[in-house]
Amino acid sequence: MNNTVGRFAPTPSGRMHLGNVFCALLSWLSARSKGGSIVLRIEVLDTQRAPRHFADLLEQDFRWLGLFWEEGGSFGGPNGSYYQSERTEIYLEYYARLEKMGLIYPCFCSRAELHSAEAPHMSDGRFLYTGRCRNLTEEQRKELQKTRKPAARVLVPEKTICFDDLHYGPQKEELHIECGDFVIRRGDGVFAYQLATAIDDALMGVTEVIRGNDLLSSSPRQIWLQQTLGLPSPEYGHIPLLTAPDGRRLSKRDGDLDLGALQKRFPGPEPIIGMLGYLAGLIDRPEPVKAEELIPLFSWDKVPKEDISMTAEMLNELQR
Ligand code: GLU
Repeated sequence: MNNTVGRFAPTPSGRMHLGNVFCALLSWLSARSKGGSIVLRIEVLDTQRAPRHFADLLEQDFRWLGLFWEEGGSFGGPNGSYYQSERTEIYLEYYARLEKMGLIYPCFCSRAELHSAEAPHMSDGRFLYTGRCRNLTEEQRKELQKTRKPAARVLVPEKTICFDDLHYGPQKEELHIECGDFVIRRGDGVFAYQLATAIDDALMGVTEVIRGNDLLSSSPRQIWLQQTLGLPSPEYGHIPLLTAPDGRRLSKRDGDLDLGALQKRFPGPEPIIGMLGYLAGLIDRPEPVKAEELIPLFSWDKVPKEDISMTAEMLNELQR
């Protein structure tokens, strides 16, 4: 094994679907093709939302797919716990550091206020925070606190974050213009994905993060948090999303493509891995293969950049 450490970071709120498997497969292949290892981290911050048995099922699903990992999940390891729901103390410690740096302020805005007409709208559908609660006085905060539980927002500086995406190449974001102050802890005390994931990737020694391009805009925030907290940043590589023939993103709603249904239809994972390997441009035809057979064939040059639309025939093949 060399020093590359990739990761699976699933949020098991249900059974894995084809899109999740595609992401896990490419994360695994990218690390394995360099002789690297894989960490499994279960990304559930709000324990009420995802019971533990989904995480256990997910491990069975990874094994069934032939996507083995070295550290994390129920195996544990030196950087555990690998369940975000058990890492609250760690997040609290880093949150306190940001607080000490004067970078956190309470935000009382309701959803409606955040999405109001005055809030600048980003091209990816996000709303840029107007900074409404940034300069409230102590009295105003006290008054508002009587009726609302504030979220905690982090004050972003005028700073440009640049990184070289393993797949999409050089990226650049002006944090204060394109992102704005963002929430790192919800009003109910649950830490936000951005904070938890930035900390965990760094503390778990992850050197490369491969994930869907819907999270491309999260990377500058995570890199900035790591820099601010004195933590190392991994490399990031984003991948195209799988879509249904009508262009809709495959999701948990496509229950007939989840691993429970697929395992009933197929005795082994090879036809599924073969189809995903084909969609990733690694093989010429969607023929059955084992995940490990794709390791020597993996290269970022072959992977498409545009989102990948599955054809009706492909879906029929998987749903038969
Ligand atoms: N937990 C996220 C998900 O399952 C992935 C987050 C990440 O890869 O950073 O969608």
